[in-house]
Amino acid sequence: MPLISGTQRNRGRPRPSSPSSSSSHAQPKRRATRLPDYEPPSYPLDNVSRRELAELSNNVDTRKYEEQLKQSITLLTNNVRDINDRYVKKRHELEKFRKRQRAQSEDDGENPETRQRGRAEEEAVMRLREAVPALTAECESAVRNVIDLRVELEDGRKAIQDTVRKAELERANAVEEDQEGGDNGATDEDDDLIMRNTQHGILGPLRILKNEREKAAADYATRSLEERYAVDNDYIGFKRLWWDAVHSVDGKPLPDASRWFTRNSAGGDDSGDDEEEDLVIAEEHISIYCPLSMVVMEEPYTSSVCKHTFNKPAIVQFLRSQPGHVAQCPQTGCSKEISVKDFYDDQVMLRKIKRAQAEKERQGEEGEDEDGVDIEDSTLQPRSIKAERARERGNQLLANLKLDPEEDDAI
Ligand SMILES: [Zn+2]
Repeated sequence: MPLISGTQRNRGRPRPSSPSSSSSHAQPKRRATRLPDYEPPSYPLDNVSRRELAELSNNVDTRKYEEQLKQSITLLTNNVRDINDRYVKKRHELEKFRKRQRAQSEDDGENPETRQRGRAEEEAVMRLREAVPALTAECESAVRNVIDLRVELEDGRKAIQDTVRKAELERANAVEEDQEGGDNGATDEDDDLIMRNTQHGILGPLRILKNEREKAAADYATRSLEERYAVDNDYIGFKRLWWDAVHSVDGKPLPDASRWFTRNSAGGDDSGDDEEEDLVIAEEHISIYCPLSMVVMEEPYTSSVCKHTFNKPAIVQFLRSQPGHVAQCPQTGCSKEISVKDFYDDQVMLRKIKRAQAEKERQGEEGEDEDGVDIEDSTLQPRSIKAERARERGNQLLANLKLDPEEDDAI
């Protein structure tokens, strides 16, 4: 059955203000190089075109692009980890140098060469103190940009699928209208479509796609920072590693995601926290042993469902032996159901385990009774009560992590 033309479909409706297509064709020919303006189609897509559109929507290959986005986040995350690690290490070295310097000057009086070196070390730390937070903020912003691009990609995929669906609908409506003899049979939806393009009565796939994309972008723009990023696994991974690098000494636990974007957009600096809030943060207790295999975890593998960590080979073997590769979490007291796909390589846990082991080795060299930590919260500012407390917390955390000498055989 032939479809009625756009002109016929619009019979009885107000004429569009723009000139009709027939009069524009009558205009003298323009320069041959100029392409005519895009005109929306007068008819809905036919069967072949709709099938091709559906195939197109199923065959959009974005794997390479997605891999590159993922890679970008990994590089930015590792960069933030490395620069903050370097800053913390430099501060630690400066502190050690100052201690030696003090001891030396008590013995032999002040040495001009040592004093000069001390000043150079201080200047280096000062430069890092300026540069590291600025670079970190830049990387944090870039990570959020990459996440935005990924959302745009995902929304674009959905928009193409919706375009296929709506092109089907335009076709169905046009057929229905044709069968019922014109405007009188138009449904509400059809009316809506015609109102949006009075000249042709249909939008056509390009216009539909554009509308869908604009709708998704407008929706994303209304979401808060927390809604956009605090639920994104890559952002969470970035945030955890960044926090761990900044707080590797004081051991302060990462605040709840609801607080990440409240004080400043960077969120990694705790300088805005007041004392009261500091007090309510619970101490973090971690075990460096795998609850399944009882060995020190060399490949900590954490469940995103319940946050419990195991050594990767042990938990993977355990889950593979279960029916359907799904099981209740083997951590005592946890009833969550887990499978291998819920797990991720836990870089932060690995760092904590390595620090605990290094601390144990150091204590082994210096004797068990000595104070475990000699790094202060800030080496360049007068020592505050808060810094003192952070130091105590750091010591306590390390004490919690201290290995039991009787279990040395298990390592
Ligand atoms: Zn669990």
